[in-house]
Amino acid sequence: MTGPVLEIRDLRVDYGFGDDPTHVLRGVDLTLHRGEVLGLAGESGCGKSTLAYAATRLLPPPGLITGGEVWLTDREGNRNDILGLTDAQLRAARWRDVAIVFQGAMSSLNPVFRIGRQLTDGIRAHRPGLSARDLEARAAELLEMVGISADRLRAYPHQLSGGMRQRVMIAMALALEPQVLLMDEPTTALDVVMQRQILEQIMELRDRLGFSVVLITHDVSLLVEVADRIAIMYAGEIVEEATAADVYRRPRHPYAHGLLGSFPPLHGPRRELAGIPGSPPDLQRLAAGCPFAPRCPHAMDVCQQVRPVLGPPRTGEARRVACHLHGADLPGDVAFPAELAR
Ligand code: SF4
Repeated sequence: MTGPVLEIRDLRVDYGFGDDPTHVLRGVDLTLHRGEVLGLAGESGCGKSTLAYAATRLLPPPGLITGGEVWLTDREGNRNDILGLTDAQLRAARWRDVAIVFQGAMSSLNPVFRIGRQLTDGIRAHRPGLSARDLEARAAELLEMVGISADRLRAYPHQLSGGMRQRVMIAMALALEPQVLLMDEPTTALDVVMQRQILEQIMELRDRLGFSVVLITHDVSLLVEVADRIAIMYAGEIVEEATAADVYRRPRHPYAHGLLGSFPPLHGPRRELAGIPGSPPDLQRLAAGCPFAPRCPHAMDVCQQVRPVLGPPRTGEARRVACHLHGADLPGDVAFPAELAR
């Protein structure tokens, strides 16, 4: 793995244009390195998809980017702020440098055009000099790359299974060999067998083609298996970020600990599953302090008043956590929870 390819700095997004917008992303900082798979996990509504759409400037109204930077380092080593690109520059960068696989292939594919036509549309826009024969050859190559026979080029989306449609979406996203692939819940609508096959295929393609992946899902157990690093989101913020192994074996944030405790262990003895009590906060009425405090079994007085900042824990571990328990100024009379110290 080498240097960063995508750097998101203090990204802020509001929904609503009036005097009282909802702050759905509240200063997100995240770095994706070349060749890396970065998993983004969290409950529905925590801002995962908003982050992907804002970072690619695909956020529909009433979403509004109110601050931050998104730096993309292109193949030549130039760093460009995606948020500062002109429309023409942005059109050129999309699909070629950054591509996105949306949730729900059936609603993303156009039902009245054949698969082949949809696969070649983007290529034609970026490489207008290609002949019809070359376009068709490339579309066939892409289909076969994702394990679908090229004779399905003339099929309509409804003639393919859910898994095949999702593979077509992946083939489309890889058509121009982007450096960064953002995948928003790419397998949520599929059964677990198909889910695994598709993820294995993405990882195999990543190894072969060398792109980087941001994989968004609410299923943190999936990320433990395929991601190099995992960032956990809660209420529009990253609350913990570490290697996948560290998040799985030693989650430090109480929310990350709760998420990991809510699915069966991959190894070792069986244990009782524990959910996270309560529900995610109303982002329009966030109180001061830590947004997880109303659900946190370890909340302290300071948590009600001061918002924790994402940073390295005082133990010096190579990770970032947004929790007062791990900050340098933990009150001396607080007993550190054993389950967060293993
Ligand atoms: Fe819990 Fe406080 Fe940490 Fe928030 S800052 S997760 S309330 S201990």
